[in-house]
Amino acid sequence: MKTRADVIVVGLGAHGSSVASHLARRGLNVIGFDMYRPPHSFGSSHGSTRIIRQAYSEGPFYVPLMQRAYDLWEDLEQRSGRKIMRITGGISIGDRRGKGISGIKRSAEEHSLPLDVLTPAQITQRFPMLHPHDHMIGAFDPRAGAIFPEEAVQAQIEEAIKAGASLYFDEPISKWSSDQKGGNVRVESKSGIYEAEQLVFTAGAWLPELVSKLNLPIWIERQVLFWFEPKANAEAFLPQNMGNHSWEYEQGHSMYAQPDYGEGVKIAFHHDGAQANPNQLDRKVEESEEKALHEQIERYIPDLNGKVLKRLACMYTDTPDLHFLVDFHPHYKNILLMSPCSGHGFKFAAVMGEIAADLVTQGKSQFDLSHFSIDRLLTEYS
Ligand SMILES: Cc1cc2nc3c(=O)[nH]c(=O)nc-3n(C[C@H](O)[C@H](O)[C@H](O)COP(=O)(O)OP(=O)(O)OC[C@H]3O[C@@H](n4cnc5c(N)ncnc54)[C@H](O)[C@@H]3O)c2cc1C
Repeated sequence: MKTRADVIVVGLGAHGSSVASHLARRGLNVIGFDMYRPPHSFGSSHGSTRIIRQAYSEGPFYVPLMQRAYDLWEDLEQRSGRKIMRITGGISIGDRRGKGISGIKRSAEEHSLPLDVLTPAQITQRFPMLHPHDHMIGAFDPRAGAIFPEEAVQAQIEEAIKAGASLYFDEPISKWSSDQKGGNVRVESKSGIYEAEQLVFTAGAWLPELVSKLNLPIWIERQVLFWFEPKANAEAFLPQNMGNHSWEYEQGHSMYAQPDYGEGVKIAFHHDGAQANPNQLDRKVEESEEKALHEQIERYIPDLNGKVLKRLACMYTDTPDLHFLVDFHPHYKNILLMSPCSGHGFKFAAVMGEIAADLVTQGKSQFDLSHFSIDRLLTEYS
């Protein structure tokens, strides 16, 4: 068993498996650990689909990262032979002055992205099962679609191993330390002590507890997902007939849906969950938790309001401004902390691996990461 590496990666979900594969493909000696066996359903990277979209409502600075991520996902698909992404186009619907629609338009304008802005009548003409209210408009992003998270994580893990990384599963890291000069890191698992020059923490919902001394203003949010059987016009909900759709139905309240990829139409609220502890997550989703969703579906997508086929719980790892954390530990320049979540990070996993590899090998990235700094978390929000 290898106990010394150039880089140790803790957490091999969406981001850690990407980081391990990018580093190993650059010829670095990599050891990775996960306390489960990814892809698994105990963290944030399960549930069959994730939305990918280009005209990014959360800020135009995400667009260059997204564009690189599309290239890297395609590359991963080709190298792995796995189906990781399906581009269907996707529509965001909301008040014409709402935060979501305004953000999408701003990104599209700033980066000259294709975007169809549709009136309520045009939305219903194009997608007869969607019934927006009169004050709403739609923004159709032709590059939107789905990423299949379990396939993506599996492909990244296979890539990492093929490139020589040693990945240890069912091995929680219980302790870590770094010498003050930042020259050496040590981690401890049940099988022993491992050392490296650098350490990357991609531990998802468990990141705050691994660096608890920093007291990061990051909280874990329980999210529940449902798969609905349409009560009418089931064909219309297939991916060849519609893509993903998200609704900002009130200021600050939204839901999103994916077409039926074989398990029913996946639909969920976005950011309406209770604070959770990742070690004691309530994974049982009660029938009562669907009530509010049935009400919104009846209002905007009545044909979808059939029975619920499947329910699942998952976790968001949220920062106060809902932007990512990608930065070095403030006390150790050889420890990189990565939390690209806040409920929208999966689509970036492919590029996050490349970014981490650049930061680890060169100390910098070609992308503007200023919005993801640890400083803003520790000074503005603590
Ligand atoms: C319900 C839901 C819907 C979402 N929808 C979208 C979407 O549509 N589009 C999108 O882009 N993003 C979406 N996201 C966000 C996206 O899924 C996350 O950004 C992404 O999955 C986070 O990946 P991660 O690698 O940080 O965490 P994870 O995949 O959870 O990986 C963390 C890993 O660290 C391991 N670990 C933790 N602690 C230790 C330790 N001490 N030792 C060893 N291993 C450890 C865990 O076992 C885990 O495997 C959604 C998230 C959820 C929950």
